[in-house]
Amino acid sequence: MRILVVEDEEGIARRVESTCVGEGFSCDVTTTGTEALSMLKFYNYDALILDLMLPDIDGFEILSRIRAIRNSTPVIVLSGLNAIDDKVKCLSIGADDYLTKPFSKVELLARINAVIRRTSGHFSPIIKFGPVSVDTMRRCVMVYSTELQLTSKEYAVLELLALKKGTVLPKEAFLNHIYGGMDEPEVKIVDVFICKLRRKIADLTGGLNFIETVWGRGYMLKDCDDEADEVPMSETLKAS
Ligand code: CA
Repeated sequence: MRILVVEDEEGIARRVESTCVGEGFSCDVTTTGTEALSMLKFYNYDALILDLMLPDIDGFEILSRIRAIRNSTPVIVLSGLNAIDDKVKCLSIGADDYLTKPFSKVELLARINAVIRRTSGHFSPIIKFGPVSVDTMRRCVMVYSTELQLTSKEYAVLELLALKKGTVLPKEAFLNHIYGGMDEPEVKIVDVFICKLRRKIADLTGGLNFIETVWGRGYMLKDCDDEADEVPMSETLKAS
């Protein structure tokens, strides 16, 4: 996950950044509205943590401008302003959540995880495929009742696949998710992570791994839950 933090108070910016990095997110920090707007133009962020009182363009204006150009990045306002009017205004112009300073690290993380999950179309923190459950709050993966032993990067790859289940993801998307544009190794590293994940999952499922290679395009997690719900064609014919 890649997060943009827009905050002009250095101490707070550092605290938000360390909270995000500690959770395994990549984090970009900017202190001005102008820079925030240009970063949002060039990069895809999974969430934006937005202060309101900034030295140039304020947070309200940033919010209005990005929503006007249909940028749907989830936004959590983190502000010292605690008047109901400010909260209502932000939520009505496109913020997804509002947290007041001083903030609790645990609460901020819970809110970031919740907005990212909702934006990805998942309403529970646990994403399932076959016997595999990815717990995006606890950041762990269970296969049946055994916990899958993953490195933090392997987890990040599997988390992205799970969040975007049923969608083909190019290898660059994984690099962006894991490294956030910082010191990115070559895309071949993604194949290595996928290979390790497949082996680890297959070891616990008796051979199934659910990760499909889409030649020339990338990788996709098979949306096997939907298939299970479908009535096979032969059954439909028999019923009619
Ligand atoms: Ca400020």
